[in-house]
Amino acid sequence: MKGLVWFREDLRVRDNTALYHASIACNDGIIGIYIIDPSLWKKHHVAACRKEFSLGGLSELRKSLNERGIPLLIKTVKHTSAIPKLIGHCMKKSKLDRLFYNRQYEFNESQRDHLVCHYLEKQGISCQNYDDQLILRPGTVLTKSGSYFSVFTPFKRAWIRELMSNKKGIKLSPIPKKQKITSIESAKIPKKITGFTANVRWPSGEKEAKRRLKQFIENGLFNYHKYCDFPALAGTSQLSPYLSAGMISPRQCFLAALIANDYGLEHGHKGAIKWMNELIWREFYKHLLVAIPRLSMNKPYRLNTDKLKWRFNKKKLLAWQQGKTGYPIVDAGMRQLNQIGWMHNRLRMVVAMFFTKNLFFDWRIGEDYFMRQLIDGDLAANNGGWQWSASTGTDAVPYFRIFNPIRQSERFDPKGNFIRTYCPELKDLDARAIHDPHTRAPELAKLCGYPLPIVDINISRRSTIKAYKMI
Ligand SMILES: Cc1cc2nc3c(=O)[nH]c(=O)nc-3n(C[C@H](O)[C@H](O)[C@H](O)COP(=O)(O)OP(=O)(O)OC[C@H]3O[C@@H](n4cnc5c(N)ncnc54)[C@H](O)[C@@H]3O)c2cc1C
Repeated sequence: MKGLVWFREDLRVRDNTALYHASIACNDGIIGIYIIDPSLWKKHHVAACRKEFSLGGLSELRKSLNERGIPLLIKTVKHTSAIPKLIGHCMKKSKLDRLFYNRQYEFNESQRDHLVCHYLEKQGISCQNYDDQLILRPGTVLTKSGSYFSVFTPFKRAWIRELMSNKKGIKLSPIPKKQKITSIESAKIPKKITGFTANVRWPSGEKEAKRRLKQFIENGLFNYHKYCDFPALAGTSQLSPYLSAGMISPRQCFLAALIANDYGLEHGHKGAIKWMNELIWREFYKHLLVAIPRLSMNKPYRLNTDKLKWRFNKKKLLAWQQGKTGYPIVDAGMRQLNQIGWMHNRLRMVVAMFFTKNLFFDWRIGEDYFMRQLIDGDLAANNGGWQWSASTGTDAVPYFRIFNPIRQSERFDPKGNFIRTYCPELKDLDARAIHDPHTRAPELAKLCGYPLPIVDINISRRSTIKAYKMI
């Protein structure tokens, strides 16, 4: 048998479920394919940096596959609807018997895959797909009555129980052995994709992902609980771009932490437990995305929150996007996002809360802006994070618990070092004034041209609580 492996958000050869299964099933060779589909990426507002980053990963993937006798084809489509025919044509031309791929859980992507399989099956070609993006498959972590969990803590308990009951535990798929050589040559990786070019500051690829994981496990894991909330410190793994492009698998990450913690899932090093907890949050949001399709369709989890009469002001939206709100911690976070396509988790919460609760802007506008900028943009996590901050989501922050950006700044960037990196105009302010320049050092703030606050955080807080109480 000869197979085609369709790579999407799984740009790696290690622990790649579909690739591994193809390598066992296909004695007569495998070909890989990657499809450039700008129409879908544009529809989902995927950030240019995210796709530029993927191109780097593709180059390395092509090399690794070639070393194993697997050529990689690169094809471009004008529209997603052309994919079934394209795959069918490639398979017929190279006399391939079966398509292998790892599932994507987003609504449009899973519809697309469904259409591809339907088309191929009509042509007598079989399709085999796998759950690979998560440690536990959606639908395996359910309440006693068989429904999905909408609250994280019971989900986590059930998730751990399910993992422990699995005799195999976490098993990584081996790297495929060298395959029977086919006469097909790998395609060249395009240097650029029109509409998706960016200056990416992140080294790409599977090897870099592996190196980062190793470094984090050796140097960061046990201190994670102490430093993960401080954006000026490199206290988190910064693996999210690699996880969302599939340059590393969640199993590789979780297992590395588990081994470092002597296989303790709930006991042992606090840092390891907390980091594994974050990976379970990742699972939680993806399980929810599968359970509740409206989350992929711009709808809130709590439908009654659609009654909120969000405000809108273009000038203020621009100020938030550009990091000119007059609140240094918000501005530093937004500038970090604009400059490197990534933002520290604590700041994602701070800027999203400021957006929804102080500006009282619709969370969907903020979610969309994040998606357009993030190198790790992931529908489930981004939607989950925004709906958490806006109190429209499942297990979200209560609507009355609104972060005060100045207190957050004092607590999580006490010396102002992070602010100084991204708001250099404030570098000469001392550790007290830097969090609230116009109140604590008005002359200096004016002198360095730092913008005045675009909203009063106390007044806006009170009116937001009132608005939520009414629905
Ligand atoms: C408003 C908002 C938007 C977000 N958008 C995204 C997004 O588009 N893509 C994305 O990957 N994460 C998103 N997150 C979650 C989180 O901020 C990032 O995963 C994290 O900052 C990535 O940094 P890291 O790799 O150093 O994480 P670490 O702290 O090292 O955590 C390890 C991994 O766990 C996962 N993870 C951590 N926290 C969360 C979380 N709260 N929800 C889901 N998964 C998590 C990520 O895959 C992360 O790489 C968002 C959070 C908020 C509040």
